[in-house]
Amino acid sequence: MHQMTLAEIARGLADKKFSSEELTKVLLARISQLDPQLNSFISLTEELALEQAKAADARRANGESGALLGAPIAHKDLFCTQGIRTSCGSKMLDNFKAPYDATVVAKLAAAGAVTLGKTNMDEFAMGSANESSWYGAVKNPWNLEHVPGGSSGGSAAAVAARLLPAATATDTGGSIRQPAAFTNLTGLKPTYGRVSRWGMIAYASSLDQGGPLARTAEDCAIMLQGMAGFDQNDSTSIDEPVPDYSASLNESLQGLRIGVPKEYFSAGLDPRIAELIQNSIKELQKLGAVIKEISLPNMQHAIPAYYVIAPAEASSNLSRFDGVRFGHRCENPENLIDLYKRSRGEGFGPEVQRRIMVGAYALSAGYYDAYYLKAQKIRRLVKNDFMTAFNEVDIILGPTTPNPAWKLGAKNSDPVAAYLEDVYTITANLAGLPGLSMPAGFVDGLPVGVQLLAPYFQEGRLLNVAHQYQLNTDWHTRTPTGF
Ligand code: GLN
Repeated sequence: MHQMTLAEIARGLADKKFSSEELTKVLLARISQLDPQLNSFISLTEELALEQAKAADARRANGESGALLGAPIAHKDLFCTQGIRTSCGSKMLDNFKAPYDATVVAKLAAAGAVTLGKTNMDEFAMGSANESSWYGAVKNPWNLEHVPGGSSGGSAAAVAARLLPAATATDTGGSIRQPAAFTNLTGLKPTYGRVSRWGMIAYASSLDQGGPLARTAEDCAIMLQGMAGFDQNDSTSIDEPVPDYSASLNESLQGLRIGVPKEYFSAGLDPRIAELIQNSIKELQKLGAVIKEISLPNMQHAIPAYYVIAPAEASSNLSRFDGVRFGHRCENPENLIDLYKRSRGEGFGPEVQRRIMVGAYALSAGYYDAYYLKAQKIRRLVKNDFMTAFNEVDIILGPTTPNPAWKLGAKNSDPVAAYLEDVYTITANLAGLPGLSMPAGFVDGLPVGVQLLAPYFQEGRLLNVAHQYQLNTDWHTRTPTGF
């Protein structure tokens, strides 16, 4: 039962082959049996899950239908869930029960999805390995000695291990696409403004975007349908109609123009990954796509710009966690300054503290122009590169990551080494564009992802290309041994 995709579950529920309650019980048992190896959950919500599953079964019995009605999912632990701990992977919020549901949580619940729990993540979504979580590292089900990617590592590991079919995640610089690549999943980062950020604890507000992690593009379409849409509670949400993402999955790729940036294949890319990317290009050519070499000349400046902008926004966003308004409060403070210092010093882990310091420095008088403003100018250049490229091509294709998942601990002493692994993903966040990662093969038994980028609001196109590719390849169907 646990092998079913969301689409298969929807058919099974509609055909009354099983109930949501039965399926939910099977998956909850599987989580308690297997998750101790992975650490992919921070909180389980068994009672809520069974209640929601029974309610979904009752709605179906009353004649309602819908692809998410009775579908078991989980939420990354930065989506606020009313009355349920929402920790953001941090000791700072270990005691925080959200007073309301995030829009994404409320929308998926209204569509009938069943919440099994809250998934582990890098602290405040800062990281690429899920090792900065206060709740401990998450293991990659493909090799328990390797990281699952981050910051949505818990959602990725849980879905890859077939503990559940899909989960929510967020992507500020790659945190949906990179863990998807590392665990053989399909992950979609929507256009900035497509999915509401209301109730999603902010890391870098101008870059953060929620989206789905699942095994197939077909399932990402189902999830995105439940998540996307205008929300008046989010001032950056965009009032664009939401298309039927499942309806466009079967469009032909005949004549599709795919741009492959020459900068993507420079030194630093594992040659074995380069070869798998070339193979995926050949597959898409067989389906009628036309390949064109393009250039993204400012790509080399994207990492330094991102690691100024994201920490700058984080230093501002995280000022609310001071032990007074939110979060951990130290014992017996001597005075207000002592309270702030020790509450924040004890509540935040080292990577979060590093980012707050870098961000506050970049925003300080005298450095603002030199770093923050300069980074914003680079951001515009990166966006312009994409706009030029999309005059000539329909989508852009390349690797999701330069290397496969590294060993746990391998990059702990060198944060910059980890930042460099974001080279292919962060440009989409700087420009606000939608991006998708899908399985493209294996290197040393570890999954490799191919990334597709599209113009604004063309999530449907990305899902269409990925679905056609998945109808003709079987990488996404491979299951990690032991799960
Ligand atoms: N690895 C990037 C960072 O640490 C991206 C994280 C994310 O997308 N949340 O900031």
